[in-house]
This record gives sequence, structure tokens and C-alpha cells, in this order.
Amino acid sequence: VVSRLPNVGTTIFTVMSRLAQECDAINLSQGFPDFNAEPELFDRVHHWMKSGANQYAPMAGCLPLRAAVADKVAALYGTLYDVEHEVTITAGATQALFTAVAALVHPGDEVIVFEPVYDSYGPAIELAGGKVVRMGLTAPDYRPDWSAVAAAIGPRTRMIMINSPHNPTATLWSEEDLDQLAVLTAGTGIVVVSDEVYEHIVFDGVPHRSCASHPGLAERSVIVSSFGKTYHITGWKVGYVVAPRALMAEFRKVHQFNVFTVNTPVQLALADYMADAQRHLGLAAFYQAKRDHFRAGLAGSGFELLPSAGTYFQLVRYGKLSTLPDTQFCDWLTREVGVAAIPVSAFFADGRDEGVIRFCFAKNEATLDAACDRLRRLG
Ligand code: PMP
Ligand code: GLN
Repeated sequence: VVSRLPNVGTTIFTVMSRLAQECDAINLSQGFPDFNAEPELFDRVHHWMKSGANQYAPMAGCLPLRAAVADKVAALYGTLYDVEHEVTITAGATQALFTAVAALVHPGDEVIVFEPVYDSYGPAIELAGGKVVRMGLTAPDYRPDWSAVAAAIGPRTRMIMINSPHNPTATLWSEEDLDQLAVLTAGTGIVVVSDEVYEHIVFDGVPHRSCASHPGLAERSVIVSSFGKTYHITGWKVGYVVAPRALMAEFRKVHQFNVFTVNTPVQLALADYMADAQRHLGLAAFYQAKRDHFRAGLAGSGFELLPSAGTYFQLVRYGKLSTLPDTQFCDWLTREVGVAAIPVSAFFADGRDEGVIRFCFAKNEATLDAACDRLRRLG
């Protein structure tokens, strides 16, 4: 077999979740909640299934869900996306990101990403024949170096992929960061793909800055989000994209032959569920309490906590506990201590290892307490 992706193995999330299961470890590796969504959401799915909404949805998604998305984006970020032409429902954010790249990146184009980078971006770009241009960010701040970005932008730059709130670093981009990006892309044909799947999980009163709210960026941005993170249903794999009409037209050319459309009763149920804005607006406080609980549980342990400003992830340094490389440390932690985490080197193409690992705190307090008990015993 002549591989299209010779350097790609199995995603770290599958590797670590499988190991956690084999070792019966507490799984704080792959990001997903260990608690259920609200019964009301399941009732709505059941309702629509029984009502006969079980055939293909419109290619771009069910109208009520597209309308609910457009209303939410307008309410939060002040930009009106046209329901007919500028909103598409996808099979999760992963498909949205992949489709955006496939639709817009030509062979030989350069795509700028910021490392540590979510693991699906690079392969999507390479499959499109694009060249990944990596801007390295460094612990503990992970701030973008805008003069380095300016130097990296050239005539072949087709796209810049960004992610705030950021997985795995739990950092947020500020309004100034978006301003910088807008200045650097002004007057170019560069498309920004903005992965905002953790848009509602931001802490300490600091707001999420969406490309939708930035006039200079909204016009060139394909914005991706996911219901999986917002409603505790990562396994449903439903997300959405908003983008200006010309970009969305290209996106849909690929989307229609990639998935065509997404699960009908689930879309209609989500449209009903979105009517209560508190469900997404309350998420920040809900996860901030979990973050604080987890951080308190690790206080006095041998782990050094990095800031967590958003997402449901907490980075820690383990240098006081071990000199192992981070992948080996995570393997050992899972097998011997019974807690699984993600090594941050997995988010660097060259495997850069800064001795930092990622825990997911989207868990019941009892799970977090049990994990912290084990982790505190380390020293
Ligand atoms: N982007 C980021 C940054 C993510 O963390 C995730 C979820 N792990 C995704 C995209 C994919 O989201 P989905 O499960 O909706 O495909
Ligand atoms: N995005 C999730 C994480 O970062 C995992 C999703 C996946 O397994 N692809 O853990």
C-alpha cells in the first residue's frame, strides 16, 4: 500500500482511551464528559423520531437548527449569517474542519497552524496537497508571535487555522490577537478557519472572542463549532459552520459529497433544545466549578498547574515527579497510577516535549476526586 499519510499513526485519543480501558484507569485523557446530558434532549429526539422525521434532512441541515444557530451567533457575536446560504450543519467539528480544508486548499498551498495543534488539522491539509506551516507556541503562555506569523505569510498562504479557546493549552486569544490576525490578512485572499468548539467554556469572566464578532475577520472566516462540547453529547457528532456566502458555497460543494447531510431527528431535537440560551450560557460557570475543584484537588501534589482560561482541559508539568518523556510518563501514569492523560508532544509534528501533559476535567466530582487521590500520592 502506498500510504497517503505515511507519517500518521493512530490518533493519541484512541491510543490513550484504549490503554485506560485495558488498565481500568480513570480516563482523564480523551476529552469527553463522564456524565449524561439532560433527559429533555433525549425526549426531543424521541419526539421527532416518532413524528416521522427519519429521512434525509436538507443538504445544508434542518432549517430550524440553522435558524437557531444563526440566532445564537447574532445574539452573542453581533453578526447576522443568512440561514439559507451561510449556515451548514455538519457531522461534528472534525468533518467541518476536514471539509473546509478539502474545499478551499489547492495542491501546493500553504496553511499556517499554531502548535501545539489539534491532531486532525495536519492530515486534512496534507490530504488536500497543502503544505503545513507550523508556528510553534511555547509553555506556559503559548502566546502567538505575530512578527513570526507576518514573516511566515507569503504568496502561497491560502489559509490560517486557529483555535480559541485552545485545545490542548486551555488558552484564549484576546481581541488584540484577532486584531493582529486581521491586519496581517487584510487585502489578501487568505481564509481563516476558526475552530471555536469550546466557545462557551471560558472562565473568570473573560469573554470568548469569536471571528464572527470581528468585522475584519468575519468576512474571510469559516467558523466551526460543535454541539458535542456544548451539550455533553460528543458521541452524537453534530456541529456547524458559519461563513460568508462565497466561502460557504465552496464548503457545501464538498459537504454534499462528503456526508451530504446529518442525522435528522437529532438536528430537530437540537433546534428545540437551543431555544433555552441558558443551556449554553451556563456552561462557563458549570465548567469553571469543575476546573476549580480539580485544581484544588491537585494543589500540594507534585504536579505544577498551568493556567486554564477555557476548554475542559488542564495542563500540568510533571518535572518534579519524573524525567521520563511525556508519552512514556503518560503510559506509566495510566498503568501504574491508574490515571490516563494526554502527552502534549502528540500535538507537535516533531514531537517537541516540554514535560507537559493534559488532563480532561469534564467529569463528575467523584471521578475527579478519585483521580486526584491517586495523583497526590505521587509526591
Ligand atoms: N477541534 C477541537 C479543538 C476539538 O477539541 C475537537 C473535539 N475533540 C474537535 C475539533 C472535534 O469536534 P467533534 O467531536 O465535534 O468532531
Ligand atoms: N477532541 C477530543 C480531545 O481533544 C477528542 C476527540 C477525538 O477523540 N477525536 O480529547
